[in-house]
Amino acid sequence: MSHKKSSHTRETAIRGHIVTFTGDPFFHPANESLRDIPDGLILVQDGITQAVGPYDSLIAQLDKNVVVTTYSDGLITAGFIDMHTHYVQASIIASFGKHLIDWLNHYTFPEEARFSNREYATTIARIFFDELLRNGTTTALVFCSVSPQSVDVFFEEASRRNMRMLGGKVLMDRNAPPAILDTAQSGYDASKRLIAQWHGYGRNTYAITPRFAPTSSEAQLEAAAALHREHPDTILQTHVSENIAEVDWVQSLYPNRQGYLDVYDHFGLLGNRTVLAHGVHLTARENARCSETGTAIAHCPTSNSFLGSGLFRVELAKNTEKPIRVGLGTDIGAGTRFSMLETMGEAYKVAEMTGFSLDGVKLLYLATLGAAESLGIADKVGSIAVGKEADFVVLDTKATPLLAFRSQQVESLQEQLFVLEILGDDRAVAATYIAGELAYRRARQAPPPHPKLSTSKKEPV
Ligand SMILES: [Zn+2]
Repeated sequence: MSHKKSSHTRETAIRGHIVTFTGDPFFHPANESLRDIPDGLILVQDGITQAVGPYDSLIAQLDKNVVVTTYSDGLITAGFIDMHTHYVQASIIASFGKHLIDWLNHYTFPEEARFSNREYATTIARIFFDELLRNGTTTALVFCSVSPQSVDVFFEEASRRNMRMLGGKVLMDRNAPPAILDTAQSGYDASKRLIAQWHGYGRNTYAITPRFAPTSSEAQLEAAAALHREHPDTILQTHVSENIAEVDWVQSLYPNRQGYLDVYDHFGLLGNRTVLAHGVHLTARENARCSETGTAIAHCPTSNSFLGSGLFRVELAKNTEKPIRVGLGTDIGAGTRFSMLETMGEAYKVAEMTGFSLDGVKLLYLATLGAAESLGIADKVGSIAVGKEADFVVLDTKATPLLAFRSQQVESLQEQLFVLEILGDDRAVAATYIAGELAYRRARQAPPPHPKLSTSKKEPV
């Protein structure tokens, strides 16, 4: 077990409306894949869920010394999982007017060059992790920069907060400024050292991270595949088919390959520990190949809309014949929100643009258990279940006047979830728990400052 050990057991109990997945709602009816406990209790011991069920049936088991924390206007669900993001791009969020390749050259590469400075990296990492918790995100698969130090800082911060995080050093040996290039050998060596230091330490998982085919030579993709074979329980993450110009560029760089995905396939980079970001322009043959190899896709709707990249077809991925595992990613900083609720809302809109309606249950699945399944960590997180790590988010259905007003009218849990996903954001996150410990609680709204009235004149009442 990788959770925190202490000399005495730590017990916590949380009461409220619990909503959690037991299956995939894309392939099973909602009432068979979603567990709904209107007045539920979760008992946590040393970071692990010991019991979850109706309050009335569990309260007798509770040690009298354990205080029950009750959330009466909320929904308690597993913590959100962000399947694709870049902590080193937190500062360039909301940068104007570029598509993918220009975005990288103009904003991303100059910013990522700053991460060889440990102090700068630490400052940004802390902002990034604070934002995750404020938004109810308890796990993320993260790109660091090419600097190994950026990875040390990332895992130090993750460990300090005891969060289940996955990430790694960007591998990039061509088509970028010299200051942020490694070589096939130096990238391999640095990754090897980082895996030895961080992979499996606490709740950390290392992700071997070639940025994408255009910035890696054949030798580097070979080295990445070798690393992954040597450390098969690491994750391998990269980008694929985000933008049409990028797809064409890859074809010109790798003229002997049958398209973008085939570059990764050729070097042995696909498989059930591989996560590809975007996949907006994958062909039917490429989708089938993702399914055959077990490769997962991170759908990043706010980023795809922001950079004008295109519309991901979630219904083509989640098909019964050749299903692909899919989760949602924010893709900060091309993504525009840290909030997974807002990302769910944008995924809904993108699916509508392609003629497919994603309901509130499916959306929540993509941000919790679906992402955990995609990352191969569903035995640890992604749902509230006995034996799993106790990472939760408490959502407030009355967080804003509009949300409260709209929530009064809902007639089902499905409708309530959808309303939260369309109207909710960081304000709807009342609390975030990491391994059973309160890691974030939304501050009460401060009242507006009292106007300083002059004593000589009083306003008429
Ligand atoms: Zn990305």
